[in-house]
Amino acid sequence: MILPGATLGMLGGGQLGRMFIFAARTMGYRIIVLDPDPLSPAGEIADEHLIAEYEDACALDRLVRECAAVTTEFENIPASTLERLALHCVVSPGPLAVSTAQNRIYEKSFLRDHGFPTAPFAFVQSEDDLINAFEMIRSPAILKVSRFGYDGKGQTKAKDLREALAAWNIMKRETCVLEGQVHLDTEVSVILARGLDNEIAVYPVSENSHANGVLDITVVPACVSPELIQEAQNIAREIAIQLEYVGVLAVEFFISQGKLLVNEIAPRPHNSGHYTIDSCVTSQFEQQVRAMCGLPLGDTRLLSPVAMVNLLGDLWQNGEPHWEEILKSPRAKLHLYGKREPRAGRKMGHYTCLASTAMAAREEALKIQRELRPEK
Ligand code: AMP
Repeated sequence: MILPGATLGMLGGGQLGRMFIFAARTMGYRIIVLDPDPLSPAGEIADEHLIAEYEDACALDRLVRECAAVTTEFENIPASTLERLALHCVVSPGPLAVSTAQNRIYEKSFLRDHGFPTAPFAFVQSEDDLINAFEMIRSPAILKVSRFGYDGKGQTKAKDLREALAAWNIMKRETCVLEGQVHLDTEVSVILARGLDNEIAVYPVSENSHANGVLDITVVPACVSPELIQEAQNIAREIAIQLEYVGVLAVEFFISQGKLLVNEIAPRPHNSGHYTIDSCVTSQFEQQVRAMCGLPLGDTRLLSPVAMVNLLGDLWQNGEPHWEEILKSPRAKLHLYGKREPRAGRKMGHYTCLASTAMAAREEALKIQRELRPEK
């Protein structure tokens, strides 16, 4: 076990890294962040911030010398960096899981080869592939770049082959996945942690609504049947085992015509798991510390129904949001990530509302959401 007082490394300086640091420092660990951005939200509160690229040999040597274990908060860390660090210290998640999740082609191949249900898809590397893929999937379809797409970015809907070709040209004919656009009853996600000893702790299933491809609101417990809850948790557990995963893992699902389809895997804590900070015995970030340090995993129990709402940069369009709407609500919690520039679509923070039922939590969260935006 790596005990408090030790130094932990974090690759990536975004809000997920920042929330990890709050948890880790509360538990008495020191943290070194590696991120090239001098103003990164995690870098600002770390014990030390190495401002360097993720392949920088000097920075990686520093991490190896100082850290007992290293983790990540973002999936586009080069696998070679993780491999290099793994020669010298505990690295979780490992390079296999991260490289699978950072490329849609590997991710979909992994899911298909292990028999996990997904929306229909085909890989596109040539114009012939695209024609054949469209023939197989039929409209409507969504073309998604295989790398560096997130939150609906790098994806375009196409209702016929002409539109798909035009979209692919705009994507500079990059390698893509063409996916059938399925009817969404709803979307859910499962966060879990798997320890160095293979123990798994699964969080309650969250139900997620998106706006413009970005998570808008998460409500827990999800309003879906106990059978689907169980099945989603079992699939997520099986994915973690097949990936030989250590750390916190998120699996996003579509529920389409009563069936679960795996959408994406994230090898890290997840936006839809932020509710765990205020409403679970152990937050997803404390769990990340526990998993990488070889500590027993914490209890994932939900202490209260909860709704979480993302605060995107768009909200600042007409000035500072009306924070008092959150702060005056006795069971609401505000989390801001310390980002200075509120760009449209940028995740600036979130808030959670606890209530006696999921529906009441959702209603309170939506009521606050309506009041937050400053008038023109
Ligand atoms: P992604 O970044 O791939 O997770 O997509 C962002 C959001 O777009 C998802 O959470 C869904 O709301 C929607 N979406 C993506 N792919 C599909 C699909 N194949 N069918 C229906 N909706 C989709």
